[in-house]
Amino acid sequence: MSKSFLIDTTLCTACRGCQVACKQWHDLPAEHTVNRGTYQNPADLSFDTYKLVRMREEVVDGKLRWLFFPDQCRHCIEPPCQDTAGYPEAIFTEAATGAVIYTAITRELNAAEIRESCPYDIPRKAEEGTLAKCDMCSDRVENGLLPACVKVCPTGAMNFGDRDDILELAQKRLAIAKKKYPKAMLLDPDDVRTIYLVGFNPNLYHDKAVASADHHGITRQAALRKMFRPLSDIVSRLG
Ligand code: SF4
Ligand code: SF4
Ligand code: SF4
Repeated sequence: MSKSFLIDTTLCTACRGCQVACKQWHDLPAEHTVNRGTYQNPADLSFDTYKLVRMREEVVDGKLRWLFFPDQCRHCIEPPCQDTAGYPEAIFTEAATGAVIYTAITRELNAAEIRESCPYDIPRKAEEGTLAKCDMCSDRVENGLLPACVKVCPTGAMNFGDRDDILELAQKRLAIAKKKYPKAMLLDPDDVRTIYLVGFNPNLYHDKAVASADHHGITRQAALRKMFRPLSDIVSRLG
């Protein structure tokens, strides 16, 4: 049974336990940060930061709101980044969990093309060219453990489990959230394994919270490669 996350932002207090736990589990270094007039730190995802609690202050219906969005890879059901790469040794989907995994071979890919293909702007490149992002803590999950970010979340905002159970939980949480936030919604639940529940317009939280309607999730080059792949496959088989 494949896995999924439910990230219920209506319960998130921005404690950043998930962000720190992700770094600890993956042995990723802290980043040099500066005061940018916000509690959000660092400023963005990076090769060393797979999970980032985005923070915004917005006036919604005449009331000042803190909006928190613990950003990470969505582990798309049909991952545009994987399609674009077309190179299973570099990017593949783990059969048991549905986790989309990047390997060290990603250094052979066109990093800009892969990043551009992601509707949620998730992958980031190291100086030497390797790409990295959330791996669903697949080493933990394979051993019956929760992802590190889920394990530490003290409020119930982070949830993880079999996809059917998570989809059921998402509907239950949505019904609860709608009582307090009538515009509450789930973000792209049919397309991703990291499903967010938000109380307000998702664009208030983060510009890339949802896949934009005009983003086909695949670059022109990748589309061309897909179109011609059957032909090249035939040629290689004939060869
Ligand atoms: Fe929000 Fe939970 Fe992460 Fe804390 S650990 S920032 S409550 S999602
Ligand atoms: Fe790939 Fe982006 Fe989807 Fe993650 S969110 S699987 S990086 S396309
Ligand atoms: Fe980080 Fe693991 Fe959570 Fe992904 S699942 S954000 S790798 S702790």
